[in-house]
Amino acid sequence: MTDYKKIVDDFMVDVIAKNPGENEFHQAVREITESLVPFIEEHPKYKEAKILERMVEPERVIIFRVPWQDDKGEIHVNRGYRVQMNSAIGPYKGGIRFHPSVNLSIMKFLAFEQVFKNSLTTLPMGGGKGGSDFDPRGRSDAEVMRFCQSFMNELYRYIGPDTDVPAGDIGVGAREIGYFFGQYKRLKNEFTGVLTGKGIQYGGSVIRPEATGFGVVYFTQEILKTMGMDIKGKKVAISGFGNVAWGVVRKVDELGGKVITLSGPDGYIYDPDGVSGEKIDFMLEMRRSGRDKVQDYADKFNVEFYPGKRPWSVPCDIAIPCATQNEVDLEDAKQIVKNGVKCYVEAANMPTTLEAMKYIQENNIPFGPAKAANAGGVAVSGLEMTQNAMHLSWTPEEVDKKLHEIMINIHNTCLKYGKEGDKVNYVKGANIGGFVKVADAMIAQGIV
Ligand code: GLU
Repeated sequence: MTDYKKIVDDFMVDVIAKNPGENEFHQAVREITESLVPFIEEHPKYKEAKILERMVEPERVIIFRVPWQDDKGEIHVNRGYRVQMNSAIGPYKGGIRFHPSVNLSIMKFLAFEQVFKNSLTTLPMGGGKGGSDFDPRGRSDAEVMRFCQSFMNELYRYIGPDTDVPAGDIGVGAREIGYFFGQYKRLKNEFTGVLTGKGIQYGGSVIRPEATGFGVVYFTQEILKTMGMDIKGKKVAISGFGNVAWGVVRKVDELGGKVITLSGPDGYIYDPDGVSGEKIDFMLEMRRSGRDKVQDYADKFNVEFYPGKRPWSVPCDIAIPCATQNEVDLEDAKQIVKNGVKCYVEAANMPTTLEAMKYIQENNIPFGPAKAANAGGVAVSGLEMTQNAMHLSWTPEEVDKKLHEIMINIHNTCLKYGKEGDKVNYVKGANIGGFVKVADAMIAQGIV
């Protein structure tokens, strides 16, 4: 019998030697390799063409200096990144993250994940990711604008509507995309769909801000359907309170479920009545304030706040991490399983450690991986690119309908490649489903 574990371990020895210290990147590659090795062994054309070896090597990595001046006149220097991972099925596509934790490992893991995620959407998008270790917290609007302009002064050379189309991610929303777009237009003297997540007035798509969260909930609904359940009446524990969390809360509320927790870097809140109505709008206010404190919610609505804690000990039916990478570890996973959750769905990118993921799966809880579950955001970015290319814009109903169809399709792909007896291994299904299209395109395009 083929020793798959040994093949994975040998492959990882090379990846680790070539990319020393890049722990998040190693983690993302290992997870995918574990799913893919048995499939590749069964399909020798991928093995002979060394597709996986080629996929873990970015097509291009750009690292650049981003100097800028604060409101007091002091000069700062940050580091900018753009990882152009794979362009086999379309221009590089993926967000830009501003967060002090940003480094090459985080950029590469995100870009790698993005390749599979974008492939799953069925739209023609390659994978990339960018960002900076810039911390927008406490920065004035003028400072953020100067930073974005400086970032674009370098990045503009490497992007374009048919080359690489960045968008938002943690720390980058409509305001930052506006500053990027303005600077790009000025430098290139071109009005094109070079970025997504733009304002509606200048080529943005409706539903883009809420798309990631809506897509996560549509995907969750499909998982529940396979178990004969529905989101109505279900208690949902989530982390985060940013853009993705906001979209999840809105859709869960609309479909009759109840989101009972939110979290921030300062701790989590427990709201047994559920986040709905004006409380949802307050999430936007909390984000706009730039304070990054979820305690504000507890103070305003008089609910319990647990400082320094994560929300995973709260009993719920569905758990959806919406904050950041590796926010759910083995201890958290044990709590989640003990509380009897019906399903676990990743809304943030790689929010679960490998041990935690395995523990949840071993306990027969359906595990919706990010690259499938949160693909709705980039899918609507893809729809924004289409609208830009056609010089028209669709209505909210049209975009939402397309998003919903895409999420159902992604779920079907997971079923196609992930069925194991009467169970579905969504991690395997998403990894193989995302791989096949990119791998076949790479083979067709020769050794490039
Ligand atoms: N940052 C988002 C993601 O992780 C969206 C990227 C995009 O719209 O290009 O998928």
